[in-house]
Amino acid sequence: MFNALVVEKDEDSGKTSAAVKQIAVDDLPEAEVLVAVEYSTVNYKDGLCVGPGGGLVRRYPHVPGIDFAGTVEASTDDRYKPGDKVILTGWRVGEAHWGGYAQKARVRADWLVPLPEGLDTRAAMAVGTAGLTAMLSVMALEDHGLEPGHGPVLVTGAAGGVGSVATAILAHLGHEVAAVTGRPETEDYLKDLGASRIVPREELTEVTKKPLEGEQWAGCVDAVAGVMLGRILKQMKYGTSVAAVGLAGGAAIEGALITPFILRGVNLLGIDSVMQPYENRLRAWERIARDLPMEKLEAMIRPATLSDLPELGRDILKGQVKGRVVVDVNA
Ligand code: NDP
Repeated sequence: MFNALVVEKDEDSGKTSAAVKQIAVDDLPEAEVLVAVEYSTVNYKDGLCVGPGGGLVRRYPHVPGIDFAGTVEASTDDRYKPGDKVILTGWRVGEAHWGGYAQKARVRADWLVPLPEGLDTRAAMAVGTAGLTAMLSVMALEDHGLEPGHGPVLVTGAAGGVGSVATAILAHLGHEVAAVTGRPETEDYLKDLGASRIVPREELTEVTKKPLEGEQWAGCVDAVAGVMLGRILKQMKYGTSVAAVGLAGGAAIEGALITPFILRGVNLLGIDSVMQPYENRLRAWERIARDLPMEKLEAMIRPATLSDLPELGRDILKGQVKGRVVVDVNA
């Protein structure tokens, strides 16, 4: 038997509750690889799955945790053998399939990548899904021509998970990073990660009817959408790109007009970490190991245990988590 955070639903009231319980390997879903989980994290989707469900959880009881890193304990797939260190992100694990908030998980071999050289399992989860998405965003901006020296690159939701990692990677690569935050108290934290400038959230949250504004940004990693993305699109330099990652500030692009796309050739790139093929995930993890300074990663970490998760799930939905929560499932 081993520990897991199990979310159950009361059929009469429809209410869900989450608690640490003992479960057995036989309870786990069928799949090729059994992993002894070491670390998991808290992402926005985890907040939804630990709490009232948000439509993401298909069946109860459920073990959430959309990412984890650990050591293979048994495998019926030739690609993995006991003792291999692995990372899991995406593929609706933690939503449609039991996830990483447990001391063991059983998943498809296709969903894993080997831990790249230069990262241990704790560092891998300090990065986690949010950090992988930040790296995929930077790679997409580079594929569309972004290079250091082109001008300031904007990062929204900067004190959150995606934003923190994006800020650190971009600064390390030599970009001038302008970090947008609604929490002025995170200024020192963001500057330590490498931001050269802090942009208060209020500067970008007023809807305007102007078709375009002054050209300012050479690129953008946006975790917020809503009004802010509408404003940012109008401020992008000619021929640049926005990597749109999330919707912490609203599911629509509000106040936006078609003009930035037609008159300035701006690209809006949708970034999805969930269904990324193996080669892309591996390439992104290898770049993370190379381009994310470990001392900066250390500054982002808030440690947690399985029993902290219900509260942390609520915090992340309120936008109150700074950096990355690393869950030691064996603590
Ligand atoms: P976090 O909660 O860690 O960060 C989100 C940040 O957004 C907050 O810290 C806050 O930053 C800012 N924010 C929150 N609410 C608002 C608001 N109402 N208006 C403006 N800014 C707001 O989440 P993550 O970084 O993990 O994820 C960010 C988004 O990206 C989520 O929507 C998530 O679902 C999505 N995501 C998408 C992935 C993909 O594959 N596309 C993968 C991972 C995440 P600050 O306090 O600095 O302003």
